[in-house]
Amino acid sequence: MKTSLNQDLNISKMVHGVWRLADWNYSNKEIEELVEGCLELGINTFDHADIYGDYSCETLFGEALKNRSDLKEQMKIVTKCGIKLISEKRPEHRIKHYDTSYEHITWSAENSLKMLGVDVIDVLLIHRPDPFIDTHEVAKAFSKLKEEGKVKAFGVSNFLPHQFKALQAALDFPLVTNQIEISCVSLKEFDNGSLDLCQELNIQPMAWSPLAGGAIFNAQTHRMMTLKNVLHKISDQYSTTIDVIMYAWLLAHPAGIIPVIGTGKIERIKAAYSALDIQLSRQEWFEIWVASRGESVP
Ligand code: NAP
Repeated sequence: MKTSLNQDLNISKMVHGVWRLADWNYSNKEIEELVEGCLELGINTFDHADIYGDYSCETLFGEALKNRSDLKEQMKIVTKCGIKLISEKRPEHRIKHYDTSYEHITWSAENSLKMLGVDVIDVLLIHRPDPFIDTHEVAKAFSKLKEEGKVKAFGVSNFLPHQFKALQAALDFPLVTNQIEISCVSLKEFDNGSLDLCQELNIQPMAWSPLAGGAIFNAQTHRMMTLKNVLHKISDQYSTTIDVIMYAWLLAHPAGIIPVIGTGKIERIKAAYSALDIQLSRQEWFEIWVASRGESVP
């Protein structure tokens, strides 16, 4: 059964990610303005995780929007669970580890709702594949959260196809996404079967670090400089900038990739969104692919 993030869950074609929110040192007013700016553009979805900012980002976001139910009504929330960090806020964690137990998933989702100050999580993701996973326990947790109306839909992040399929087999409803690292710098997901599986199941992947964490702007290696030159050549043809072409390259892919924008600067978010107006040709797409791989297709 097809579950389109865009059509069935009303997730916007590009999502804003708040992993770096604590680093931006924004005031509540600035966070409000950032959210307002995204919503005005058409970016209605915000990507969180319980652990972002050492367990602080959901709280910062929730605090800033405490009195803005008008904004909350318009937004969709993606958040994640399953990683336990060593943190002063979690003194009981002796080692960084994963926890996909029934107790932890249900507790974490309920805690995210509280920290964010919202009634429902639109999509809850298991953040990383857990070598200690009991898929039936995850299924039990997901079913409870769904039945109670606390979470609308579920997905995973950084799962390989066999891990995705193992969890899917234990569930009565479809996982709606795999959030994976994809950019024209990071190509591994094209070869490990993840994007193929998304197409097979008709679900949309989300791409984290769509600009490779900013590494392209400080290209040092021959490979990165070659890629950057090609991105510049194409961006000149479209009278735009290389970041926009990097997003357009993801958006062009037939798998329906949803890029998770990582910048906190509204001007850069606006530029990112303009990528939706660019349609790269197949040959332009391959020019970037070949530059990144450093060799022609066979
Ligand atoms: P990214 O867009 O690849 O990288 C963002 C970085 O690039 C920021 O430091 C940003 O700095 C810089 N940048 C953006 N545009 C720039 C420009 N035009 N010139 C120079 N620097 C520029 O995304 P990301 O932050 O790595 O990841 C995006 C989101 O993906 C995160 O917020 C999070 O929601 C999600 N994520 C998920 C996972 C997972 O395991 N599921 C892992 C990592 C991330 P400025 O802020 O100064 O613009």
